[in-house]
Amino acid sequence: MNHFEYRNGQLFAEDVAVSDIAAAVGTPFYCYSTATLTRHYQVLANALATVGARICYAVKANSNLAVIRTLAQLGAGADVVSEGELRRAIAAGIAPENVVFSGVGKTRGEMDYALSVGVGQFNVESESELETLSQVASARGVDAVVALRVNPDVDANTHDKISTGRKDHKFGIDIDIAPVLYARASRLPHIRALGIAVHIGSQLTSLDPFRAAFNRVAVLTRELRAAGLTVERLDLGGGLGITYRDEVPPHPDDYAAVIAETTAGLNVDITVEPGRLLVGNAGILVTAVILDKITATKRFVIVDAAMNDFIRPTLYNADHRVTPVRTGPAATVLNKADVVGPVCETGDVLARNAALPDLSPNDLLAIESAGAYGAAMSSNYNSRLLIAEVLVKDDKFCVIRPRPSYDALLSLDQMPEWLTH
Ligand SMILES: *Cc1c(COP(=O)(O)O)cnc(C)c1O
Repeated sequence: MNHFEYRNGQLFAEDVAVSDIAAAVGTPFYCYSTATLTRHYQVLANALATVGARICYAVKANSNLAVIRTLAQLGAGADVVSEGELRRAIAAGIAPENVVFSGVGKTRGEMDYALSVGVGQFNVESESELETLSQVASARGVDAVVALRVNPDVDANTHDKISTGRKDHKFGIDIDIAPVLYARASRLPHIRALGIAVHIGSQLTSLDPFRAAFNRVAVLTRELRAAGLTVERLDLGGGLGITYRDEVPPHPDDYAAVIAETTAGLNVDITVEPGRLLVGNAGILVTAVILDKITATKRFVIVDAAMNDFIRPTLYNADHRVTPVRTGPAATVLNKADVVGPVCETGDVLARNAALPDLSPNDLLAIESAGAYGAAMSSNYNSRLLIAEVLVKDDKFCVIRPRPSYDALLSLDQMPEWLTH
């Protein structure tokens, strides 16, 4: 459920007409809904209350400070994968002890910064990372709380590029060697090994892979405890899918039931790290038509947003709904079109075979379900300005990331002395 809806043929975000935002801000921009973020958080939080799980929002899905703060005020902690994300989480108001530092390649510098602010947990993905963290923590004279991220060798049955839990993926520690490594971690100086973490992939639409992975983690937990090791925490990752078109992802209540079933009797503190689930359907991308180009074989609607603003269709073949911000009369004829950007790449496609009415320059389109892995993955490619972001709350909206100026874009570069005369 989300709070984007048509009123008298006009798309609204909560109580604000999307066309009013476009008139004030210009296009393209992302538009997020506070009510939708809140609703998604609360549905998940209510479901997880039965298992007492903590929610650490995966900041990489949408890392705008205002989005993070909206979720933080609802009670979310954060899951971060870089020093930059850690700094964002803290700047948004999340206490460092409520932050989990994940990621397959943390640098010494990042570890040291995270220890200096007192990050709550490091999810460690290899033996050498464990040793490095022990050294960095020892040098600082503080302890690092660690969960070992295991790779449970479970197929998430999702897109290849967002699947992370099979043996041949770079993520995590082979679950078969986890007991040896966990015992080793427990003896390393300034390491407090307290838990197991797992994250098998993103946009999962079935509970079976979760059940399989969590069961393996539960078996491992019992095995470690039988060996006299302490396991107080389980971090079960993110990955619960959302509806882009016709997908029917599991309800959070059923997801929570799988957690309850697989962790029954373990008496552990549980964390989950949802990203997409919280923000995906809380955002749209609004773009203006540049021209409607009909070639001998195909119709292209060329718009002012492009792959640098929204790379999911190019990178993952993601299939997003596209709708006009103002709908015509019911009798309007729709024709198939590829919605494409101006970037000089054939892969610059935002939507394939979208059924759209005839469009004129400046007509507005909304790409739906664009709140996750949208703005966070945007770039300046083709020297296009970084896309603006807007947050709506009730009848108010605020630009939460202004579109930079061209001067600001050019000032990022510096000229070497030998080219200045
Ligand atoms: C990306 C990621 C998440 C969030 O995944 P979603 O599919 O957006 O819920 C959680 N944990 C880790 C370790 C991740 O890399």
